[in-house]
Amino acid sequence: MIKLLRPEQHVCTEKDGQGKRCDGSLKEYYPFSDYFNEVDRARQKEIEREIGRRDKNIPLLRCQLCGQLYYHPLFKWK
Ligand SMILES: [Zn+2]
Repeated sequence: MIKLLRPEQHVCTEKDGQGKRCDGSLKEYYPFSDYFNEVDRARQKEIEREIGRRDKNIPLLRCQLCGQLYYHPLFKWK
């Protein structure tokens, strides 16, 4: 599930089983563009289902530690 990036959010806020915050740094991620990053086919399918289309220019943010995805509030795909 892709989460909305909160204002002033710069790190990942996912919690693990013990309730500890991930705090991983977020990096720009283009799920359908192998130019910017390596693509993960299984994950692409999930993202495509959620977004409803494949678009090379869809900018997401990905946590460097746990892989959680975020989208910017100014970017709406629906
Ligand atoms: Zn994380």
